[in-house]
Amino acid sequence: MITIIGAGIAGPLLAYMLHKGGVECTVLEADHGLDARHQGGMLNLNERTGQAALRNAGLYESVLNHVLPGGDAIRLLNRDGELLFYNRGNGSRPEIDRGTLRRLIVGALPNNIIQWNRTVRAIERDDRGFKITMDDNSVTHTDAVIGADGAWSHVRSLLTDQRPIYSGITFIEMRYLKATSNHSVAKRLVGDGLMFALAKGQGIIGHREPNDELCVYAALSLPEEMARERMSRDVLLDHFNGWGSDYHSMLSRSDGALVPRPIYAVQAGKYWSCSHGVTLVGDAAHLMSPFAGEGVNLAMADASDLATAILAHPDNLDAAFADYEAKMFERSTPHQEKSASNLALAFADDAPRGFLDFFESISKHPRQTHGAAE
Ligand SMILES: Cc1cc2nc3c(=O)[nH]c(=O)nc-3n(C[C@H](O)[C@H](O)[C@H](O)COP(=O)(O)OP(=O)(O)OC[C@H]3O[C@@H](n4cnc5c(N)ncnc54)[C@H](O)[C@@H]3O)c2cc1C
Repeated sequence: MITIIGAGIAGPLLAYMLHKGGVECTVLEADHGLDARHQGGMLNLNERTGQAALRNAGLYESVLNHVLPGGDAIRLLNRDGELLFYNRGNGSRPEIDRGTLRRLIVGALPNNIIQWNRTVRAIERDDRGFKITMDDNSVTHTDAVIGADGAWSHVRSLLTDQRPIYSGITFIEMRYLKATSNHSVAKRLVGDGLMFALAKGQGIIGHREPNDELCVYAALSLPEEMARERMSRDVLLDHFNGWGSDYHSMLSRSDGALVPRPIYAVQAGKYWSCSHGVTLVGDAAHLMSPFAGEGVNLAMADASDLATAILAHPDNLDAAFADYEAKMFERSTPHQEKSASNLALAFADDAPRGFLDFFESISKHPRQTHGAAE
């Protein structure tokens, strides 16, 4: 039996492909259910990674029905509110709400494969393979474990001493409901798709979402010890002293709490040696900042490649894991490096100059991957 830990994006897609191929697996997920918590904002589906994986799984057409038309438009502004760059997008990197994507993949699975409300507390090897201890002290045994348990993966520690490293940047997430009637300034600033307003050490990144909603991140340079603290709106506004009045109007009023999301990444290109019966997919394998626009896409590419490898070697999981890991390590490293360099560029001393050059170059060479924040 294969046990997958985590039903974010990679775990359910992997389980779906294994189930379709006749390989038995189960997924343990800490969330109480699909609606246990808000699943974050919009994500672009990249051709060679996310789109290819969904096609391989046979799910791409159904996902395409749920993308946000025009959501791939990009605007770049400076801190005075001046529009420096606009591209209306061409539909080649469709945008979808992360919660909708997860719901579609989970919905394709039979109900009994994901066990909700099952938080893994510890995993260790034993003579039967692996012993998994849950937070309610119940214990389960399995032959093989796949860690799809995201940024703070428990499974990762079976393979490597890699730990997420704080990037120095924290996103303060804000949500805007009924944007047309209640938040006209924010709606105008964000525009049809993705908006970046960047300056030295800070920025504002916004997405239009379905149902007339917006998701906006105020990006700040904060020390790690302050990164998880709830921030008051007054303190947030103080950080943006010197920015244009429209930004102040947008930041001074959103719906619900200000949610801190510190940005972490593991060291680029540092992986592990193959180990009997265990591997990782998605953020558990290669957590990176959202500035490569690839987190969800690579998670799906990993799921697709690992499922393909397992179905090719159903009786030799270690051979399957080795094939998959070789491919995954090679694919992920350039994206990890790009996410780190794009994050530095976004908040560099001369920001938004670097992003302006970058966006102008991709408009001249549209086949190049955009690679800016998801
Ligand atoms: C709530 C949320 C919102 C996000 N929003 C955005 C966004 O707006 N934009 C963006 O670019 N990226 C966002 N991300 C990150 C991006 O979605 C990831 O790159 C991508 O989801 C990676 O997929 P994954 O399947 O590897 O991991 P995840 O999607 O992180 O899924 C991991 C799953 O494992 C479960 N899990 C973790 N630990 C345990 C445990 N001990 N026992 C059982 N289950 C466990 C978690 O509950 C989670 O469901 C978000 C991630 C999350 C979890």
